[in-house]
Amino acid sequence: MSNSELHSAKARERAVVTGAGGFIGHHLVKFLKRQGYWVRGVDLKVPDYAPTAADEFVVLDLRKAEEAARATRGVDEVYALAADMGGMGYISSHHAQILYHNSLINLNTLESARVNGVKRYLYTSSACVYPEFLQMDANVVPLKEEDAYPAQPQDAYGWEKLISERLCRHYHEDYGLETRVVRFHNIFGPEGTWDGGREKAPAAMCRKVAQAKLTGDPVVEIWGDGEQTRSFCYIDDCVVGITKLVRSDHREPLNLGQDRMVTINQLADIVAEIAGIRIVKKHVPGPQGVRGRNSDNSRLRRVLNWEPQISLEAGLRRTYGWIEEQVREQLVGAKPRA
Ligand code: NAD
Repeated sequence: MSNSELHSAKARERAVVTGAGGFIGHHLVKFLKRQGYWVRGVDLKVPDYAPTAADEFVVLDLRKAEEAARATRGVDEVYALAADMGGMGYISSHHAQILYHNSLINLNTLESARVNGVKRYLYTSSACVYPEFLQMDANVVPLKEEDAYPAQPQDAYGWEKLISERLCRHYHEDYGLETRVVRFHNIFGPEGTWDGGREKAPAAMCRKVAQAKLTGDPVVEIWGDGEQTRSFCYIDDCVVGITKLVRSDHREPLNLGQDRMVTINQLADIVAEIAGIRIVKKHVPGPQGVRGRNSDNSRLRRVLNWEPQISLEAGLRRTYGWIEEQVREQLVGAKPRA
């Protein structure tokens, strides 16, 4: 097949990205467009920080079956990213709402994809499915996909993800729908939520450090003692990993994240160094999630013959630069006019 034939073959592929008004969905739409796809974006809202690259963007509520049917009509592939979600502060305080909303979203989206004859379906699960009892120590053993059972996720958010993973498996077994399941480990990058309560640790840390830099007050609040550990994966690696998984024949859940673990205190130090300032860490009570979490990428490497490439420092430099701009604009806007 020549390059132009390949391009036009890809151009005929039609995909819908749900949650396209959110962080990962917005970036995934851009990436699929660059691959030559025709893309429909679906969300409750348009993206917050930049116009969508989608060919068509439809505001729909996937908690409603008829709107999910509209979302998945006439496409070959569904990238199911829509979710009621946020960082630890949000997830640990909205259990019932998250379980209710996300169950409806995923039941409706998967069933309507089946009815509409979709060929491939990607479901975005989370490292939050892993049992709390395996994550009690900051120096945690990296989590393998099979560790999800026996199940004991910490939050309702994780329980719902497990059920929807299961649903994908049964839709394949019972109806032949080609389903893929990815478990993200802390994805971060520019053009994602950075304030308002739903932001996750890397964005929150960039915001706090930028505020310290721009206001001259060096105090940066950290929830807990800051010795809790995580790994963080940059958004450009995330969208590459997603599309590699969709093209693969791997139907079992697959981790997608970095396997370099850092403490939240170390994360703060890296961001402060990027910002070029000295900070004073103030440890305050706050939700911390599990004590330690890291991704075991053995299966990722084996299945995709690939793993995330972008270092934490490189990703944070790009993210910090964007968030510092947002904070600067916010501070200017907050100043009384002369
Ligand atoms: P996000 O909150 O930025 O995006 C989710 C989008 O879904 C939002 O724009 C929201 O408006 C939309 N949505 C919510 N309810 C909806 C509804 N009823 N109908 C239509 N749209 C609706 O989150 P994200 O970080 O981009 O995450 C994308 C997916 O990846 C989610 O399923 C999330 O659970 C999963 N995930 C993300 C991470 C991460 O680190 N960001 C980690 C693990 C899993």
